[in-house]
Amino acid sequence: MEDFTGKVIVITGGSRGIGAQMVRDFASKGANVVISSRNQYVCEELAEEVRQYGVKALAVACDVGNLDDIRGLFEKTIKEFNRIDVLINNAGANVTKPATEVTEEDWDMIYDVNIKGLFFCSQEAAKIMIEQNHGKIINISSVGGVKPYKRIAPYTASKAAVIHLTKSLAAEWAKNGILVNSIAPGLISTEINKAEMENKQWVERAVKAIPLRRLGDPTDISSIALYLVSDAANYVTGQTFFIDGGTLSE
Ligand code: NAP
Repeated sequence: MEDFTGKVIVITGGSRGIGAQMVRDFASKGANVVISSRNQYVCEELAEEVRQYGVKALAVACDVGNLDDIRGLFEKTIKEFNRIDVLINNAGANVTKPATEVTEEDWDMIYDVNIKGLFFCSQEAAKIMIEQNHGKIINISSVGGVKPYKRIAPYTASKAAVIHLTKSLAAEWAKNGILVNSIAPGLISTEINKAEMENKQWVERAVKAIPLRRLGDPTDISSIALYLVSDAANYVTGQTFFIDGGTLSE
């Protein structure tokens, strides 16, 4: 796999789970990383950890539901690195409950993070990438973006929007040398589904519905991000990669 030395990669939701795995994998291959989430302390701890690879790591607190925070994230990135090669829109949030109980607050929170934040992070990154005439954006969707699941209706609809937005932005920014793709993970054990993962019977049922008969691991998702950032993917744009152990094939 390619060496990413010198590339500047901004990862939202980089504090834990899939995002933290991507931070570690890109840094271990030489990329400078901007690690962002609402928790400055946790991002700074991870930044300190990955500096062992001899790369630069910047931790920036940013709530992607807040446009001022988003502008701050990109201002700080440019101040430090003067370029952005890759943005990974990984921050995500969910509320699990019957559709009849979803509140306006639940809805707004999910959409602020999963789609509004993703769009405005992409907009800020694109302003810089257009000047550079080069850049890659990777959006994290979900198999739920195409497969219906009960009790997470707003989340699945927001992830469907990510798939469509990926195509629209890929079409609009292709002329500017910006490639936009999406990765749609299947079930991965992380904080976002902690309650379900603590239910042994739920996990057994879920694994039975996965043709490869195991949950995904953050490395299964990160490896696709590494591919998309590599030169091997320089003719790939507007696509969504379903990394789900075959879930959508059944
Ligand atoms: P996770 O461990 O809960 O990570 C979510 C990340 O998003 C954290 O770093 C969190 O950091 C950040 N975040 C949440 N709200 C935020 C906000 N308002 N502003 C900025 N950052 C925010 O879950 P994960 O599984 O790694 O999720 C990563 C992505 O994969 C998400 O987009 C998720 O929807 C998607 N995904 C996950 C699965 C799965 O099974 N795990 C399946 C399909 C898709 P802070 O709390 O520190 O802000």
